[in-house]
Amino acid sequence: MANKEIDGLITDWVDNAVPGVQTLSPYVPGKPVDDLVRELGLSKVVKLASNENPLGPSEKILAAISTAATEVHRYPDGSGYHLKAALADRYQVTPDQITLGNGSNEILELVVRAFVNPGDRVMFSEHAFAVYPLVTQAASAISQIVPAKVWGHDLEAMLALMKADDSPLPRVLFIANPNNPTGTWIEEKELYSFLKQVPPEVVVVLDQAYAEYMMDDAYPLAEAWLNEFSNLLVTRTFSKAYGLSGLRIGYSLSSESMANVLNRVRQPFNTNHIAQAAALAALEDDQFLAESRQLNAAGLKQIMSALDDLNVSYIPTQANFLCFDLAKDAMPINQELLAKGVIVRPVANYGMPHWLRVSIGTREENDYFLSQLKLVLELNSK
Ligand SMILES: *Cc1c(COP(=O)(O)O)cnc(C)c1O
Repeated sequence: MANKEIDGLITDWVDNAVPGVQTLSPYVPGKPVDDLVRELGLSKVVKLASNENPLGPSEKILAAISTAATEVHRYPDGSGYHLKAALADRYQVTPDQITLGNGSNEILELVVRAFVNPGDRVMFSEHAFAVYPLVTQAASAISQIVPAKVWGHDLEAMLALMKADDSPLPRVLFIANPNNPTGTWIEEKELYSFLKQVPPEVVVVLDQAYAEYMMDDAYPLAEAWLNEFSNLLVTRTFSKAYGLSGLRIGYSLSSESMANVLNRVRQPFNTNHIAQAAALAALEDDQFLAESRQLNAAGLKQIMSALDDLNVSYIPTQANFLCFDLAKDAMPINQELLAKGVIVRPVANYGMPHWLRVSIGTREENDYFLSQLKLVLELNSK
């Protein structure tokens, strides 16, 4: 180890980190509203950068949070009894098939920690969710990135790679359905036939963070397939359609045996008391979910039709975000939008330097974004 020492003190710890971490770049989140207000002194800021629910938490959720707050001197229920019971009822599984996570992000990490050795492979698609390469590299494992097909997952190419004799099988395969940031999704028939062909020792993580927004009848609710595929783990979250990003709570459904493995590596109290209570209230608040879905569908329509008018192409989706193509480096346009108080998400780190991703907001937020985008595009075309 080539430690940089000054007067006997190590000043650079990167060389001491495990191999994967030495070259790891941290996740870059959407810019917080406060940052932009501070930096530019703007009074009006619209943040459409992190796929959050623009409605904010429902009244029922706020009430549950306030009740739960009186108990924060106690450790939370580490087993999440009540929330797991409600989820088990909803999906017709046993509570032992459920794993709660500090966001579904934590579950992605637990899977890799439990099943992947340094040097093992983890497979996922080009343009797939940024956390997959992060958790893979943190485990000093190898990312096996499969080129995308029309911005979506190329399942045939994945199968071909897994069937090739000369390459070791990935330990874990991540599939985001729908995918973030591209918004593409895989239909039921195709996904089912794919799962049938994946070697049974490969853990398939089906990330359904945006499932609640999907309107397409052909969108698969893969929870129904758990008995058939013991290598399947489906993740879901309360961060998106349920509006609880700030509380960090998500979950997975799998075989009891796989959940047992994850239970060994999680922190004893990985999900907190307030988050569990809020998630339980959110799960019971059908009206809020319906409203969120409806607002999103209307917002998508509004944004897609305005982009059509502006001659800006985009990748069609049903999720609560949309990627649009500026046909040139998107960074200057992103900067100009920031200057006008609009925060969207650059996706150059996803291999899409000409694109930006916008989250669907309220009608007013969408209007503001579209009016500012129009101005910026007009200025840039001169
Ligand atoms: C947002 C997101 C998640 C994780 O969200 P959590 O807040 O950690 O539950 C997981 N997968 C995808 C594809 C996402 O976009």
